Amino acid sequence: MTFDYAPAPESRSIVDIKPSYGLFIDGDFVDGHGKSFKTISPATEEVLAEVAEADEADVDAAVKAARRAYTKVWSKLPGRERAKYLYRIARIIQERGRELAVLESLDNGKPIKESRDVDIPIVAAHFFYYAGWADKLEYALPERGHSGENSRPIGVAGQVIPWNFPLLMLAWKIAPALACGNTVVLKPAETTPLTALLFAEICQQADLPPGVVNIITGAGDTGRHLVSHPDIDKVAFTGSTEVGRAIAKAVAGTDKRVTLELGGKAANVVFDDAALDQAVEGIVNGIFFNQGHVCCAGSRLLVQESVAEEVLAKLKRRMSTLRVGDPLDKNTDIGAINSAEQLARIRELSDIGEAEGAGRWSPECELPQNGFWFPPTVFTGVSQAHRIAREEIFGPVLSVLTFRTPAEAVEKANNTPYGLSAGVWTEKGSRILWMANQLRAGVVWANTFNKFDPASPFGGYKESGYGREGGRHGLEAYLEH
Ligand code: NAD
Repeated sequence: MTFDYAPAPESRSIVDIKPSYGLFIDGDFVDGHGKSFKTISPATEEVLAEVAEADEADVDAAVKAARRAYTKVWSKLPGRERAKYLYRIARIIQERGRELAVLESLDNGKPIKESRDVDIPIVAAHFFYYAGWADKLEYALPERGHSGENSRPIGVAGQVIPWNFPLLMLAWKIAPALACGNTVVLKPAETTPLTALLFAEICQQADLPPGVVNIITGAGDTGRHLVSHPDIDKVAFTGSTEVGRAIAKAVAGTDKRVTLELGGKAANVVFDDAALDQAVEGIVNGIFFNQGHVCCAGSRLLVQESVAEEVLAKLKRRMSTLRVGDPLDKNTDIGAINSAEQLARIRELSDIGEAEGAGRWSPECELPQNGFWFPPTVFTGVSQAHRIAREEIFGPVLSVLTFRTPAEAVEKANNTPYGLSAGVWTEKGSRILWMANQLRAGVVWANTFNKFDPASPFGGYKESGYGREGGRHGLEAYLEH
């Protein structure tokens, strides 16, 4: 049963949100030439701030600033000096961690316990990790011919990120780029610009030379201007496969380097010998963490037929204890859906799942009146042909399929255009290794799910994109061959 909990709200007084924000170009906040747009709290629909929308001229100014900083300052600094700035930024992120967590939860809708205990600590860890590489680049990728003089930065990177992990995606992009001696122009997603703008203030606080990091806000058009700017040397994109495809087309025929981190439809495979209670925790974490707005979410549960009924009963019981509501409440497990648009997409695909004949179930839960909400949902009796088994829903919706043999599990798990991640639950070590070899996924978790570490590379096969972020491999995207 679910006990009534007293509200435990995190105070928002620690953040000072300004009524309006300009663009962060060449070390200063400047007015854009374009229009502006509002960013709202998805939990209440309250307007948080007005943000500038960068037009083509603003993008050009940011790229010019990044080029100047690259040529005159950043690419000339020895690695150990660049590292000092990165360490400083990492420490300030830790010091201002609570402020960043509250702001992230306000702007994105994710529960404070996740922004506080997962997002922000990993953001800081990423800067610490890549700070450590900045003066050792010649040892990072010897097998790729990077040594001594051969480890050169690429130049100016244009980086475009999504809204599901706003500050974490920023860290994945900016930390390795700066460590390798590149400068950046980064565009956060239009629904979650605020922590990127606070990060810009942190760059000022760290005395980062002007122009090394430029943050321009805006939507798809701003992103398009950035990735197609002729003076960008490298494009790094995380987002949907559809936009990734458009970007790949836009840079084809140029000498820009590209990395794309795109969608996923991960299989979480539970064998009958698995520790089932633990597996259920992993299933819940796999699909309900961050409202399921996770590219590597375990959105397809493949469970061995002999334990399917038992797993499902345990799962439903566990789902009944999940608390949906105020992202700033420390007891909240599932926060708000990031936008009205995303909510409409989750609703549409869930309705299609029902129409196609799958069984839909959600625990009873009271959803707030304002804001964007969707209850944790599970679909049973799902077949491979169902759209909810094939398409990325990017919400708290799990599709359950069954299998009888390990070979069938592999066949079904790999039957997807994506290949970002997968999970395996079994007591047999040999089976874990066999499955990890068979699964076409960039990351395979065994008896756990959604574990992230800056030292570990992340990225996908097939339509999940190309290139790796994180770890030693993540440096390769920012070094000249
Ligand atoms: P999206 O592709 O709509 O938007 C991503 C970013 O691209 C936003 O900043 C957006 O403004 C910008 N953009 C839109 N059109 C553009 C264009 N034509 N040119 C340049 N930029 C453009 O994706 P989203 O809905 O914000 O994010 C969800 C998607 O991101 C999901 O598919 C998810 O799987 C994926 N994702 C992948 C990873 C990964 O590492 N593989 C991580 C997080 C999210």
